[in-house]
Amino acid sequence: MYYIFVSLGVLIVLTAASHYLLAANKKKALVKGWVSYQDLDGTGTPYTNKALGLKVKPDAIDSGKVIEYKSGDGSRGPREGDLLQLGGIMLATGLEEAELRYSNRNYQVKNSNDLRNKVVDVIQKMRYHLATRTLPHGKPTPDKCKKCLFTADCPDAASHVSAG
Ligand code: SF4
Repeated sequence: MYYIFVSLGVLIVLTAASHYLLAANKKKALVKGWVSYQDLDGTGTPYTNKALGLKVKPDAIDSGKVIEYKSGDGSRGPREGDLLQLGGIMLATGLEEAELRYSNRNYQVKNSNDLRNKVVDVIQKMRYHLATRTLPHGKPTPDKCKKCLFTADCPDAASHVSAG
């Protein structure tokens, strides 16, 4: 009997802790109420697209729409990498609408042939580089290369950035 009470107590504490963590993450991500899927506490089940070799865990799915939270500034428009991420998530979940929520601005994104093709193109390039054990070309900018750990070895490093 004693063990049942102890186990029950531990279960209640764990449930309360995970509920608190989820509530804190939801608050941080501005999620209100219940959503049909969420991975804000890291417990979401991955969606897969075996044909493309994709496995994704969206931040949330609400009313048939993928929602991804980004902590950065969205005032200059959605970032290319974030759009590709949404494209991959839509290919794996089968959903056609998504929303990018930056700290200061939200963007609605509809799936399109253009976005699908870009995602497939990136996957094919990654496969090629893995199979040939070659590095893809970087997109050097002085700012990025100055902070990058690979400046000394990278053949693409912006030419006027010297390795420290
Ligand atoms: S040093 Fe190379 S890998 Fe690093 S940011 Fe520049 S281009 Fe990209």
